[in-house]
Amino acid sequence: MKIRLLSLSPLLSLLAMLSLLSVAGCNSRAPERADRGGGESTGPISAIATVGMVGDIVKNVGGEHVAVTQIMGAGVDPHLYKATRDDVQTIMQGDIVFYAGLMLEGKMADTLIKVARNKPVIAVTEQIDESQLLEPEDFAGHYDPHVWMDVAAWSNCVDVVANSLSEFDPDHASDYSSNAETYKAQLAELHQYGLRSLGSIPEESRILVTSHDAFNYFGRAYGLEVQGVQGLSTESEAGLQRINELVDLLVNKKVSAVFVESSVSRKNIDSLVEGARSRQHEVVVGGELFSDAMGRAGTYEGTYIGMLDHNITLVARGLGGEAPELGMQGKLSTEH
Ligand SMILES: [Zn+2]
Repeated sequence: MKIRLLSLSPLLSLLAMLSLLSVAGCNSRAPERADRGGGESTGPISAIATVGMVGDIVKNVGGEHVAVTQIMGAGVDPHLYKATRDDVQTIMQGDIVFYAGLMLEGKMADTLIKVARNKPVIAVTEQIDESQLLEPEDFAGHYDPHVWMDVAAWSNCVDVVANSLSEFDPDHASDYSSNAETYKAQLAELHQYGLRSLGSIPEESRILVTSHDAFNYFGRAYGLEVQGVQGLSTESEAGLQRINELVDLLVNKKVSAVFVESSVSRKNIDSLVEGARSRQHEVVVGGELFSDAMGRAGTYEGTYIGMLDHNITLVARGLGGEAPELGMQGKLSTEH
């Protein structure tokens, strides 16, 4: 018996185990596509994804064989999101469910555990090697969930999706694996772009100040010191003391730009700018970064590659590095 909720907290995993034990005796392995009854399988597999970054992997790997429904759209904060009645209905109706894991979708755990009794529910981060995960001191015993900010680390999730889809739908396994290779090659190119552009920021300006601690992996991968006003989750309020500390940093290190995030209120960042100004140091808002949600569906920034291209390009340019205004592929929107 395989429990695929490894990334939830130990307590939740225990609960999951207990609920699985209660049906012990029968074979609780998730059914393959062919076992689903009703004879011929028709139409694409219905996959559910919690956040856009996960949905994007499933779309790229699944191709024509998979229809993806994404629960959280642009601008939605996954730390705080609770599944609505409609979401639960949608999730129940899907064939297979993918989520980020590492407690990102902290308030959806109950729903995911419930659904996992009847269908495959997969944390895409489950196979990332522990050595690639960050375990911040103030997040007691848990990993930092924002792995998509390191493109190379995130690309480990692609094979998890390909393997899960292949297990569920063995007939199209070769398509899933070749789609996965294509997508990973695109991600490798994006990672190189990140290294190149962010690597061009002058040494003394390599400080990234944002709304919350979503960019630790970004900082590790691309060589920036990262400071978030709020902690790892947006749940806790930022204290005045933290604001003052960051104003000191901005003034002392002459940081020229700070960044807001699309899924977090910009109030704290505005306080930083005002705080620095009251001490005669001019800081600009270098733009809005996509931290925990991608851009609007149907736009380039509404894809994972577009999201990271946007972040890399804005940060590089805002902090004095070199990157083309329209990004890696000339596709970025000009209204940022
Ligand atoms: Zn976050």
